[in-house]
Amino acid sequence: MGLKLFNTLTRAVQEFVPRDPAGKRVGLYCCGPTVHDFAHIGNFRTFVFADLVRRYLEFKGYDLQHVMNITDVEDKIIKRVRESGASLREYTGRYEAAFLEDLETLGCLRPHHKPRATEHLGEIIALIEKLIARGIAYKAADGSVYFSIEKYRGCGCQYGQLVKLNFDAMRPGERVSSDEYAKESIADFALWKARAPEDGQVFWPSPWGEGRPGWHIECSAMSMKILGPSFDLHLGGEDLIFPHHEDEIAQSEGAGLQPPGQPFVKYWLHGAHLMVEGKKMSKSLGNFFTLRDLLAKGYSGREIRYLLLTAHYRESFNFTLEGLASARESLARLDECLAKLREVADNASAAAEPALLDKFSTALDDDLNVAAAWGAIFQWVRETNRLLAEGDLSPSSAAAALAAWEQVDSVFGIGTKATADAPAEIMALLHQRESARKAMDFTRADAIRDQLKARGWVIEDTAEGPRLKKLHA
Ligand code: AMP
Ligand code: ZN
Repeated sequence: MGLKLFNTLTRAVQEFVPRDPAGKRVGLYCCGPTVHDFAHIGNFRTFVFADLVRRYLEFKGYDLQHVMNITDVEDKIIKRVRESGASLREYTGRYEAAFLEDLETLGCLRPHHKPRATEHLGEIIALIEKLIARGIAYKAADGSVYFSIEKYRGCGCQYGQLVKLNFDAMRPGERVSSDEYAKESIADFALWKARAPEDGQVFWPSPWGEGRPGWHIECSAMSMKILGPSFDLHLGGEDLIFPHHEDEIAQSEGAGLQPPGQPFVKYWLHGAHLMVEGKKMSKSLGNFFTLRDLLAKGYSGREIRYLLLTAHYRESFNFTLEGLASARESLARLDECLAKLREVADNASAAAEPALLDKFSTALDDDLNVAAAWGAIFQWVRETNRLLAEGDLSPSSAAAALAAWEQVDSVFGIGTKATADAPAEIMALLHQRESARKAMDFTRADAIRDQLKARGWVIEDTAEGPRLKKLHA
């Protein structure tokens, strides 16, 4: 059975068929963080969801390019830059680094491309120029450039592909006289914002005067630059459906770069919100936890990742500390079973046993039904525990079971508890080795590896970073 996903564009669960005629290459873009502060775990729910989509497509054999932009210029950032006295790059660099570190703690694979808005001014300006040349964008008196929804619709394009819109309520064409608006219609949105005094040093030259890009245009410019004008998958949290993603479609299809009959994006996937007591977890409501808050409470990245991966991406999910505590219990059951399997397998190797993998992929093919996938995994844990208790599992069957788990885990990315179990001084050595490697001091890195080995721990370098494994006595 093929993978089916809910496409916001068609409002239906559809078979996933990549655009590539060879059925191999897949382009995925997920709107990335606005690096104005530490991201909260609601934000990370969306990024863990994107990581799941990527890993599952890779599991199915697709050759995937994952792009995640870094929004490093927008109103909140400019305000913080002004307050902090730091330069834009210094300020955003700090939070970008923290974000990437958090992403790694949560076991997310690094996107292949992480384009920053401020490094794509050329592409952004070229795209705006194209829209002006096609008569869809216009320069306002204050030097800002707006996208005209009316002109876009006049060209036969559809505004309102992801959502149904009431254009009467939006009063298209009506001149907005308020001082706040230099634009012709309230529905129009800014592609380029003219420099304002409160922007401080944050501005770039452009054909329309100094200013900075609007938020939506960066995603159109950078996604099309890296993945081409028409690509397979675009993801984000559900709050981005309108206006952000609708505006991305308008800008990208308005520029008319797609081959005839091809949309900007074939499948739009949106993750539901992480909630706290019935409300969206958000900075403005103050009801949020950052990843660091939860690590300080003693929870691990894998426990948080596991909890986020237990809920279907289209269902809003209530976050509680009790939920994390029960995630810990579930993982302990899984870890215990895997540890016993390793003991019985005793380094034997075997091809993955297909039963678990079949159930796992049937579940995820069904619009990423993680609940059914975890159900199959814990059923397998119970069955395996029974066989282990009865002494009925040969080393090669245990190895086959472990090989199946490894494949499942290439998607869920939960890993095993070996690293979390290591005592603090062993973890400290692991971190020192990582620092030595980053500093290209390989002699020191190797010396630390030997030191760890002498103390009974080996390091396995995996795609998700180094893992510690306890040597059997
Ligand atoms: P931002 O850094 O604000 O641009 O948001 C980054 C991503 O987090 C976007 O895809 C948002 O849709 C998503 N997001 C924000 N709040 C939540 C939440 N409570 N639950 C899930 N995703 C969220
Ligand atoms: Zn975006």
